[in-house]
This record gives sequence, C-alpha cells and structure tokens, in this order.
Amino acid sequence: MSGRPVLSVRDASMVYPGGVTALAGVSLDVTAGELVAIVGPSGSGKSTLLNIIGTLDRPTSGTVHIAGRDVATLADRRLSALRAREIGFVFQQFHLSDGLSAADNVATGLLYAGVPRRQRREHAVRALARVGLAHRTGHRPPQLSGGEKQRVAIARALANRPSLVLADEPTGALDTATGQSVLRLLRRLNEEGTTIVLITHDRDIAAALPRRIEIRDGRLVRDDTGPATRPSAPAGPVAR
Ligand code: ADP
Repeated sequence: MSGRPVLSVRDASMVYPGGVTALAGVSLDVTAGELVAIVGPSGSGKSTLLNIIGTLDRPTSGTVHIAGRDVATLADRRLSALRAREIGFVFQQFHLSDGLSAADNVATGLLYAGVPRRQRREHAVRALARVGLAHRTGHRPPQLSGGEKQRVAIARALANRPSLVLADEPTGALDTATGQSVLRLLRRLNEEGTTIVLITHDRDIAAALPRRIEIRDGRLVRDDTGPATRPSAPAGPVAR
C-alpha cells in the first residue's frame, strides 16, 4: 500500500481577484502511508493550499492529481464524488451537527460518499471505536468534551476509508494536553495505514511529525523527510 501516489500538486499558483498571489508555483507529492505537516505563518498560503489539495478550489495554474485523477478534468458532480470518496476533512472547529448523535454525525458524512443506509451506521460505529469513542456513539456534541468532539470529526473523516485525511489546524481549538492526545491519535491512525496531511502554524506540532513541509509567501521553502527533529510522544493509548 505504501508508495502509491495519493496526491500530486504540480506548479500550482493561485492569484486571487484583485491580484494577491497566495501561491506561487508549489509542487508537492504525497504517497500512501505518509504523515505530512504543512507549516507556515499566518498569511503564507496554507488555507489556499488546503483548499486546492481538498479540491474545494481550483488553482489559477498548475495541476492537482488525487488518487491518480487530474481533478481539472472532472465536472463539478464528479469532483464532489471523488472528494467524498477519497478525502476526509478534519477542521479546527470540528463542524459537527449539535442535534445529531456522534454516530449520526459520522454516518451523515457517508451519505455523500454513496454508502447504503444500513452500512452507514455500521461504518460509523466502527470508526468511532477506532478513535476510542465506542462508549459515546449516542452522545450529541454538546455532551462531549472538545477532544471527544475532534475525535468524532476524525471518525467522520476516516469512516469511508479515504485515500487522504486532510486536517486543518486540528488541535487549534484544544488545550495543550487535549491537542497532544489528538495528535497521538492521528499518529496511531497513520501507523495503521491512514495517509494524513496536517496543516498547522504551530512549529512544535510540525517538528514532531515525520515529514515537514514549510510554506512562506506562497512558496514551498523546505521539505524535510528525515526523522522528526524532536522526540515526540509515542503513539500509545489515547487519553480521554
Ligand atoms: P494562511 O492560511 O497561511 O493564513 P491564506 O492562504 O489564507 O494563508 O492567505 C494567503 C494570502 O492570500 C494572504 O495574503 C491572504 O490575504 C490572501 N487571500 C486568501 N484568500 C483570499 C481571497 N479569497 N481573496 C483575496 N485574497 C485572499
């Protein structure tokens, strides 16, 4: 499974109306099984890159391949289907529906991926168990802690076994200890085979991950694939 290209960005540039160049010729390849941090200060182009990788936005120039498909060749409906099948999103602010149980929040994500109804529930419960929330399937988000909410969101991202999980500042709304716990979970899921691209402005988070890509002023200025520069917490059991 490792080595299969999951994401390939070639010479991607993004010039917003008004003339702001948010990305200037970024190229980046991610293969199955990787855990990659994209780090950069505010305004460096991280969100723009995330939107392009997530196929939510098209670059002004350059190409994006997801799971071998050139996304520019796909009409909107096919692109939405590819996105639902191949990419799981995790956001800083969780983006859960307060009125739905944890299981229904996860199962609803599978609706768009075209999973039949009965299987949606099974997949949702299994994904919640993978993130250590088997005992919380019936809880609604207001009844959960911040860390638990993010783990529900991670379960939703995983439930369809996408090629790529894209996490946008996944610890940004959490206290340090809870954020560390969420990071340990992401590392464990990666060790189990999930390919993850994590976007952060936090150098300490990036420093602990096996591959670190730095972006500045819309350009990729560093791509370190060596061992993490600092010892990181082992991917042990996830604390509640
Ligand atoms: P980051 O996520 O690293 O903070 P962004 O990708 O949001 O960076 O922004 C990169 C640059 O592009 C910034 O100068 C920002 O002001 C600009 N920018 C972002 N989105 C838009 C937009 N929709 N229209 C115009 N300029 C934008």
